[in-house]
Amino acid sequence: MEKKLCLDAQNGTRLAGSFELPADPSKRTFLRAAGLLVAGLIAPQGRAHQTLRGPSGPGHKVVVVIFGGVRRAETFSPEGIVNIPHLSGDLIQKSLFYASIRNEGVTAHFNAISSILTGNWQRVDDWGKLAPTTPTLFEHFRKRLGASRSETWVVASNKALTNLIGASSASDYGPEFGANVVFPKQLMIMAVADALRQGRTGNMADRAKVEAELESTLEGSNYEGLGWTVFDAAERLDPRTRDTIKEAIATFVHSGGPTSGDELTFLVSREVMRKFSPRLLVVIFSDVEVAHFGSYALHLAGIRTADRLAYQLWQEVEANLEYRGKTTMLVLPEFGRDPDGSTTNGFFNHRANEESTRNTWMMILGSAVDKAQVIERPIRHVDLCPTLAGLLGCPPMDSQGARLLELKA
Ligand SMILES: [Zn+2]
Repeated sequence: MEKKLCLDAQNGTRLAGSFELPADPSKRTFLRAAGLLVAGLIAPQGRAHQTLRGPSGPGHKVVVVIFGGVRRAETFSPEGIVNIPHLSGDLIQKSLFYASIRNEGVTAHFNAISSILTGNWQRVDDWGKLAPTTPTLFEHFRKRLGASRSETWVVASNKALTNLIGASSASDYGPEFGANVVFPKQLMIMAVADALRQGRTGNMADRAKVEAELESTLEGSNYEGLGWTVFDAAERLDPRTRDTIKEAIATFVHSGGPTSGDELTFLVSREVMRKFSPRLLVVIFSDVEVAHFGSYALHLAGIRTADRLAYQLWQEVEANLEYRGKTTMLVLPEFGRDPDGSTTNGFFNHRANEESTRNTWMMILGSAVDKAQVIERPIRHVDLCPTLAGLLGCPPMDSQGARLLELKA
């Protein structure tokens, strides 16, 4: 039952080394993914992504997809893979997969994401009232390479974030070099609140009227009330941004598909890719955080949604000529969740100083992947920034992390 496949003991690379390979036939998806990965590893070095120069540098783009808190038990485990059919089926076979990535900082949303985006463990206010204290990757990238604000975006569902996630309080950096930050779900929440206040809740059953409600909230002169920072935070949204969001709203409302906060975050992210083609895009999904309300079924549904939307983002990378062949995409959770039976109510929360909460996984796809492999060596969230700075062609960042050498530079 607990069989491990060791493909290359010399460099510590193993296939699925940290997963139990199930005998249970219902877990075939996992084995199929593992089998395909084996095929990829033993095939001649075909080099689908080979280029004459390394992938880093002026044209290289980076998309970081962050999932909220999900445990290994509900994702990359024999019991969990049914929740992540795209990651475990379609994507793992071409990925550089880190089986163990540790959050060694504060396992609360704002601090976790700040740590990922600065390369230093941040211990600021959990609710985003204080900016990270060391420069974000956005600021480093923009200041060192002279990149414009339109090159850096954060699109997030997470309500524990604020626009202070886009820039630090570090001297010589700060908002002048920060990212555009938008919270599409906030638009939905405000539109519903406006409709409630004005007795127009009947509108929420009619898709055309929902669109009108969302647009009127978007057009409101105080869009900063949404907590966004877009370009120079003028009174009104920059017209290109407004059109971008309107497109996403129209698709969202008229698709007939699910209408969760993460769906809208995905659609806005995709429109941002199509209209602005940023070199550094961070997308944060958080439907999984419904776990705080105690619904395990909705938490699992959130994982399935994030799995599908991450896959759709990858499909956009492959279809969009501005991204195709020159993009590295990372997918990782902010942290896990507490173990079952813990005093903090298990999956509801992410506060315990336990492996279940601190230790998750990361998948890397695209240009910086030299060959599909699983890395068992534990890495840390703070290792991302120095690695991504290298991919973007920036000088090294001042970071507590270390550059991941498995990525092709
Ligand atoms: Zn949470």
